[in-house]
Amino acid sequence: DLIPSFIKAQEFPNNVAIRDKFRSHSYGDLLTKSHQLSHFIKKKLNDNRSGAKKVSALLCPNDSRYVVSMWGSWMAGSLVLPMSGKHPENLLNYFLQDSSTNVLITTEEYRHVAQKLKDKNPNVYNIFFMVKVTEDLMDRPALIVYTSGTTGNPKGALHTHRTISTMIHGMIDRWGWSQDDVILHALPLNHVHGVINALLTPLTSGACCVMLPKFDPELVWDMILNRKTSTTSTKHQQQRQQQHQQQHQQRSNPNIFMGVPTMYNMLIDSLQQKVEGERWKLSDRDRNKFLGAVKNFCQENIRLFVSGSAPLPLPIIQKWEELTGHTLLERYGMTELGMVFTNFLNGPREPGYVGRPFPLVDVAIAKNINQSERGYEILSVGNEDGTKVFTDGNEVTGELLVKGGTVFSGYLNKEEATSQAFTSDGWFITGDTVSYSQSKDSYKILGRTSVDVIKHGGFKLSALEIENYLLKHENIREVAVLGVKDEKWGQKVFAVVVLKNRDVPFNVDDVRKWCRLHMASYQVPSDFRVVDDLQRNAMGKINKKILLSLYARD
Ligand code: ATP
Ligand code: MG
Repeated sequence: DLIPSFIKAQEFPNNVAIRDKFRSHSYGDLLTKSHQLSHFIKKKLNDNRSGAKKVSALLCPNDSRYVVSMWGSWMAGSLVLPMSGKHPENLLNYFLQDSSTNVLITTEEYRHVAQKLKDKNPNVYNIFFMVKVTEDLMDRPALIVYTSGTTGNPKGALHTHRTISTMIHGMIDRWGWSQDDVILHALPLNHVHGVINALLTPLTSGACCVMLPKFDPELVWDMILNRKTSTTSTKHQQQRQQQHQQQHQQRSNPNIFMGVPTMYNMLIDSLQQKVEGERWKLSDRDRNKFLGAVKNFCQENIRLFVSGSAPLPLPIIQKWEELTGHTLLERYGMTELGMVFTNFLNGPREPGYVGRPFPLVDVAIAKNINQSERGYEILSVGNEDGTKVFTDGNEVTGELLVKGGTVFSGYLNKEEATSQAFTSDGWFITGDTVSYSQSKDSYKILGRTSVDVIKHGGFKLSALEIENYLLKHENIREVAVLGVKDEKWGQKVFAVVVLKNRDVPFNVDDVRKWCRLHMASYQVPSDFRVVDDLQRNAMGKINKKILLSLYARD
């Protein structure tokens, strides 16, 4: 039982680990159930040849059954592949086939789709894939997390118990997790953010995780503001839950929340619609009173709001600060690496910057990365203790490379892609362009090198920076800035926008005039395209390659 996330379960068997729509589940309770399930999984796996690696795929709702399935699989010595019920059947099929899943653990809710998957994959219980087996438990592969698929087909990134544990301890260290914390969990569980940051980290700290079945902005506000302290349905269940937590002197209301930027955007909209909407019909005075109370409550009861997984637009930071009195703590990471940079828990949180490296994470900024020779030129190197810069000037800009304890062991079944993702001396090439400011001692994410860095004349423009400016326009709700081919400039700036109010005409000349007052002339988009929707994926991410092919063909 050296697996990191069980350790706290043994130390605090009576602590509430998960509160979900059914009831509270203590650590001890989850551990016992996981053991029971592990025997069953072992039996299934042992029907197969021994010595080969085993994969359990999870298709479970967001509640305690997910944790039991994951822990149970790990106890049975199997790798875990979390999947989402929101995925279309063909993608689920792809995940099962690509990972050579042996066992699919699912619940009644997914019986229908599980049956179809089984029909398509009759061998799902007897296929093996070979991975080098090391005896050290910590180096055992533990989790296959598929990347979001923003830049191509999702790739299965393999993580070991050691890389996961390094991420978890980094977050405990930086964000001050303890057994007194209660996180409100509303994230998809098939990404690092939902499964490692918001679930395994609290479970390794002895904290409580309140799991919502899905993200619903109104419910999240009710839970944050303690207007609804429980996710369970009956009064009796709720009382039992509260009694249990009082008995064990645990707090019962959330004090931590984590989300992707679109979730914060939706939370802002939902609160605004509430106070401005017809249903409540509030006078100006009452509206201010209500908003004042919300802010007070958040300041007193919440200790941390974290944002990550995608660029966080500055207007969201400002609005969130106005509503809750909290500066969102932005962090940066990716499936292959877990967490890389974080802003400070106590200390300055500069909007637009993502702070410094996590413990045991080494970073470098490089240029001229040569994919075929896998060579590069280093401009700066850094870790949690500081950053050394080898060029003149305050800022260094280039492509981010990462080494260290959280780096994944490879892409599943993609040896070629795995070896191309690293330099010859072992740096992982993130594909993101970043800059480091010496005066701020902090890093900034400029975006994906392939789609967010626009090469305009002699300049390299950050699409994210232009997006932040455009979001200040009174009628722009969402925006994606792209670089499209241009004979004169190499690339020109093209903006795809979603309007706040479609009835207000969007006059391109007027908007460009407005732009010239707010940004440098070379940043002003030469073209705009108004659309109804940017088609974000489940993680709130935009696929700019698709947008380019849809709207910006030459
Ligand atoms: P795929 O690799 O399949 O194309 P993906 O890169 O979107 O998909 P993830 O691993 O989920 O899959 O996302 C990691 C990426 O998300 C990073 O490389 C970075 O571009 C972006 N990202 C994460 N956090 C931030 C942040 N705080 N600011 C800006 N970008 C971020
Ligand atoms: Mg990626």
